Amino acid sequence: MNPILELEKTIYLMNQLEDMPLPQVAMAGRSNVGKSSLVNALAGRKSLAKISSTPGKTRSLNFYRVVPDNFYLVDLPGYGYARCSKTERDKWARLIEAYLTKNEWLKAVAVLLDSRLPPQKIDMELVSYLQALRIPMIPIMTKSDKVKQKDCAQRQRQWKNIIGDNTKILVSSSKTGSGLNKIWATIRDASGL
Ligand code: GDP
Repeated sequence: MNPILELEKTIYLMNQLEDMPLPQVAMAGRSNVGKSSLVNALAGRKSLAKISSTPGKTRSLNFYRVVPDNFYLVDLPGYGYARCSKTERDKWARLIEAYLTKNEWLKAVAVLLDSRLPPQKIDMELVSYLQALRIPMIPIMTKSDKVKQKDCAQRQRQWKNIIGDNTKILVSSSKTGSGLNKIWATIRDASGL
């Protein structure tokens, strides 16, 4: 059975960040990587997280309470949207940085990676940043239904070489539902509950 996700808090600005005293697993990724689709698929709902027709539109941190486990799945704003201003991008970077660095409740960050694309610089920067902060990572390749299995496996090996330290690279498709159970199990494990 799917756990229930209840949207409990939405944050747009750094000064709205407050202590949310429950274990948290965050989800990060470039805009358009399929993050909203994955949140919806994990919840077994069609439109819990908004699927943006305009990439880069989701600019908030959304705290979903996972019931009955009682931890938060935190949907971070998508990064790397080319068509927004530098000021805007800096603002998001500061918000995400504040969330990631000043948060004793953060247990892991799921990093979403597009199966169709070779490793992108901006994704590798996030990976290094999380490693430097020693935040456990759950790499998830998205949209696996869009690539041949062989190419997907090759991409998985590529990411494994980049990320190293025996981290498993998960593969998912929100369209077919493939990989979702494993993702839930890994997120639950990471929450420490
Ligand atoms: P976000 O910006 O990261 O939240 O990305 P969205 O969830 O809005 O998805 C971006 C686009 O990719 C949308 O057109 C989705 O329908 C599509 N998409 C997302 N996940 C999948 C998937 O697993 N398979 C396929 N085929 N398309 C997907």
